[in-house]
Amino acid sequence: MPDQSRKPTDPRLLRFITSGEAEALGPQEILTWAIKNFHPGIALSCSFGAPEGLALLDMMHRIDPRSRVFVLDTGRLPQATYDLIDRVRERYDKEVEVLLPRAEDVQEMVRARGVNLFYESIENRQLCCRLRKVEPLKRHLAGLDAWVSGLRRDQGITRADTPKVEIDYIHGGLVKVNPIADWTRDDVLAYVQAHNVPINRLHAEGYPSVGCEPCSRAVRPGEDERSGRWWWEQPETRECGIHVGEEQGSGI
Ligand code: SF4
Repeated sequence: MPDQSRKPTDPRLLRFITSGEAEALGPQEILTWAIKNFHPGIALSCSFGAPEGLALLDMMHRIDPRSRVFVLDTGRLPQATYDLIDRVRERYDKEVEVLLPRAEDVQEMVRARGVNLFYESIENRQLCCRLRKVEPLKRHLAGLDAWVSGLRRDQGITRADTPKVEIDYIHGGLVKVNPIADWTRDDVLAYVQAHNVPINRLHAEGYPSVGCEPCSRAVRPGEDERSGRWWWEQPETRECGIHVGEEQGSGI
């Protein structure tokens, strides 16, 4: 039985979310609806490692400069990602909420299993993702009413059914907004180019998606855009547990 404890109680909001009405709307319309109904209890989850999050950050900032954004700092991000976080802070004059894992959890994990445990087994990789990403996200979402993600349906089989607005039962029933679920990567790149949105410099070096430094690599032209993440695993397990239940894949 899914946890529904944090599901919105306003019948107007529930009707909009469950009716599928959002499917006919564009990203800016959905974000305007979301910010109007949930700010300051809504924030964008941006990895600073994919153009999707940066496009959404730009859209949300144009709708309301007070809009909130957070990043999960696993402690293993590449320098290019940290540089981009600071660039965005300056460009938009915006506070980026940087979420860290619990030091004692990480200490215990690396002491017992090594600092590069993720290559050893799926179980180790999922544990590392859980302590460095999933748990900090859970703690942050506990203080929000809604969150925004840059998921797209064509990113892979684990994301094919993503609705534009949903109740996030994995995180206790808050609202999850996926405004660009029906966009393609080209749509996203066209937006960032048209609006001069800063993106991760590693994209220009062949990384379509930049996660933690040891778990991301460049891909060859024509390869699946998420094939450079946890490339040693099967596609079905390549999620970190942020957008799917931990039992389904716990590998952003
Ligand atoms: Fe750990 Fe790799 Fe997951 Fe980052 S992506 S949290 S380094 S397993």
